[in-house]
Amino acid sequence: MSHNLFSQIFSRVADLDAPFMRTAEGRVIPYREAFALSARYANVLRNKGVVIGDRVAAQVEKSPEAIILYLACLRVGAAFLPLNTAYTTAEVEYFIGDASPPIFVCDPGKQEELAPLSTRHGVASLLTLGTKGDGTLPELAAGAEDNYPTAAVEASDLAAMLYTSGTTGRSKGAMLTHSNLSSNARTLVDYWQFSKDDVLLHALPIFHTHGLFVATNVILFAGASMIFLPKFDVETIRKELPSTTTLMGVPTFYTRLVKENWLNRENTNHMRLFISGSAPLLAETHRQWTSRTGHHILERYGMTETNMITSNPYDGERVPGAVGFPLPGVNVRITHLESGEVIAANQVGMIEVKGPNVFRGYWRMSDKTRAEFREDGYFITGDLGVVDDRGYVSIVGRNKDLVITGGYNVYPKEIETEIDGLDGVNESAVIGLPHADFGEAVTAIVVLEPGGSLTETAVLKALDGRLAKYKLPKRVLFDAALPRNTMGKVLKADLRKKYEALYK
Ligand code: AMP
Repeated sequence: MSHNLFSQIFSRVADLDAPFMRTAEGRVIPYREAFALSARYANVLRNKGVVIGDRVAAQVEKSPEAIILYLACLRVGAAFLPLNTAYTTAEVEYFIGDASPPIFVCDPGKQEELAPLSTRHGVASLLTLGTKGDGTLPELAAGAEDNYPTAAVEASDLAAMLYTSGTTGRSKGAMLTHSNLSSNARTLVDYWQFSKDDVLLHALPIFHTHGLFVATNVILFAGASMIFLPKFDVETIRKELPSTTTLMGVPTFYTRLVKENWLNRENTNHMRLFISGSAPLLAETHRQWTSRTGHHILERYGMTETNMITSNPYDGERVPGAVGFPLPGVNVRITHLESGEVIAANQVGMIEVKGPNVFRGYWRMSDKTRAEFREDGYFITGDLGVVDDRGYVSIVGRNKDLVITGGYNVYPKEIETEIDGLDGVNESAVIGLPHADFGEAVTAIVVLEPGGSLTETAVLKALDGRLAKYKLPKRVLFDAALPRNTMGKVLKADLRKKYEALYK
């Protein structure tokens, strides 16, 4: 069996004339066409001197061609390195300098601006790719052969490099191998029962593990198809939903959709599956979704470095607020924060993971890689979690968001869940802020529902008696919205910065 992820995809697609993607404008791209175009792109890359192990960076808008570029990289044996389209030129300079890719593909409109930094960092070819199939890459591809002998790679060769979102500190390049991606795709197709008849509504960005690997690789491995939307937009979702069977989204998709009056059982009963991940889905959103549609959203948990780790079951109870069981072949354990020893069920600790899904390490950061792996091969995720008696894993939050007040550990999620349950509250974030007496003071930032009139005193009164005294917020602040990144994760570091002087 070939280890190349592309060869594995190719061998699984039974009907080459089946549609792989359809755009909102109605353009249909059958598998045959996508594979032929990927061969043309691969020939261009090889002619530019790309060899196995090279990085090919791409900062391009979402388009079918961008996915085809990913396939072309796999075929050449290069590591696809997608960059968030929101990154500024200064930010891009860090990634290009760090990854030193021989090829950088950018939006035609940005070529001039990105040329100087590309030259500075030794990029041999700066190519362009637009959303209408325009740019120098498609131009060169038009004159290239439409077949390509897919490179024979080792299972441990790089298929992609994704920079972690880096909400704090420097962003790190996670090196993902062909076997990391193929093992996870195979597992997810089986676990979530994807088949060639599935049509996925794809509204996620493709520079992130969720939209690129979870969504796209699962579709490719199932020989299924997807409606490929440039971004999440409620009206387009409403229009496209009838022709799909599944939706994968970040929690924000669901919190926005559930506010829509049109959402009901009738227009969702043809759907097979709704999946959520990348950030915590509020238990309340899960329940609201069920009461509106009759569907239980399937929540799963993973990260750039590890691909998917746990999932609620396909058959069986999908527990609101929990992320389910370790996926088949993936080992999960919870360890003590100080001693690192494995701890018993129902106790909060560090989530550690080991399996074929776990990345090879951070690019050119061997110290950082060593620090985040145990000697027996487990990766320390940085997420705090707990496993219940039935084996369901729940995430309590990031370790770095843990609040230590007067020597006590406070897990923000516990307080947030209480606050979110109060009438008139839309959502909340609990953070620790520097405090002379307590070290850190538990502080809640609350977003009210429109027309909500809760006061700080009212929130504190409601929590009193429900939470131990040391867990009670010292202050409750109100804000119009919580800061979030594109994947819907609340940026707690930004909140800590904004309010750092509160107790000074
Ligand atoms: P990323 O590498 O950008 O995919 O971010 C991974 C992080 O997102 C994880 O380490 C978790 O902190 C968080 N995350 C992903 N899925 C979930 C989930 N279902 N519930 C809570 N947090 C999640």
